Amino acid sequence: MSLLNHLHARIRTDGPMSVADYMADCLLHPQFGYYTTRDPLGAKGDFTTAPEISQMFGELLGLSLAQAWLDQGSPAPFALAELGPGRGTLMADLLRATRGVPGFHAAMRIHLVEASPTLRAAQAKALDGYAPQWLDTVDALPAQPLFLVANEFFDALPIRQFIRAGDGWSEKRIGLQGGALSFGLSPAAPQPALDHRLADTRDGDVVEICEAAAPVTQSIAARIAAHGGAALIVDYGDWRALGDTLQALRAHEPADPLQTPGEADLTAHVDFEALAMAAKTADCAFTRLTPQGVFLERLGITDRARALAAPLQGAALDSLIAAHRRLTHPDEMGNLFKVLGLCPPQAAPLPGLNP
Ligand code: SAH
Repeated sequence: MSLLNHLHARIRTDGPMSVADYMADCLLHPQFGYYTTRDPLGAKGDFTTAPEISQMFGELLGLSLAQAWLDQGSPAPFALAELGPGRGTLMADLLRATRGVPGFHAAMRIHLVEASPTLRAAQAKALDGYAPQWLDTVDALPAQPLFLVANEFFDALPIRQFIRAGDGWSEKRIGLQGGALSFGLSPAAPQPALDHRLADTRDGDVVEICEAAAPVTQSIAARIAAHGGAALIVDYGDWRALGDTLQALRAHEPADPLQTPGEADLTAHVDFEALAMAAKTADCAFTRLTPQGVFLERLGITDRARALAAPLQGAALDSLIAAHRRLTHPDEMGNLFKVLGLCPPQAAPLPGLNP
């Protein structure tokens, strides 16, 4: 049995499947899923993320959260949480950077929301001595002040894809053609969840919906609104979804999403408007959506890079300069990646983000 066999069997039994069901099986099938079975990060893996590029990313996000914690009166105890922590690198950098913040470590309990057993093991290694608690979902987070980071978590949540047809929408589905997985379309039908998109789309436009994102955001936002806290959500995407953004990456190269199910990373752009609206329904405030490069510059990444550069020369110095550029430059990750902050309505503005 393989994931491909499983998908074929599922389609033969139930008919063509939504892109969301396909993504969910590919990424998190308990036996064959991409994340379930491997550590996909780093030079030898399929893709690299900001915390794996440089320690500066986790350090600055950590100090930003710690400043928000100080601004809110240093509540204790509080939950320090991360969604989809990968190898645990961001959290390890965050913890090292915040060691000097009086009371922060004494008051925190670390919670990691992670679906992959393989990555949980990597996180345990990276965070040895910190006794993190692993959770299956955000709903298991405690009713406490919540200071949370999520980098490249929401882009891994399954999306459905719709194509505008008159006042209705056809859904993209994955079926079998000539024995191979192939895309097809369901008959057009009204989609109440997309009524607001009839105004800004035309026939043939593709719009994506991530149904899992709103409940996750609401759950976080409700805790922040009730008990205090802050969330920093970093991902690639924009204020509103438009176009087909489903992307497969294998060995750092784009791949056909249907070609090697379970062997390639699958992601889609994040619709930050949907996250902000979900936070709003929980009476939580959200910041302006801010490009990652601008956010990191405001937090002082260039000063931090200078300090790290002082003792370096040659290849080590070149690689630090390249990392700084990669994280901040508009032609690299600086503009494609965005940051959305969540905080209680009356709280001080979050460092690096405008209300
Ligand atoms: N934040 C890390 C890793 C990003 S990869 C970094 O920046 O390096 C996506 C992460 O989210 C992985 O840890 C993956 O296992 C996790 N993940 C994906 N879908 C998930 C889900 N539905 N529930 C919990 N974790 C999930």
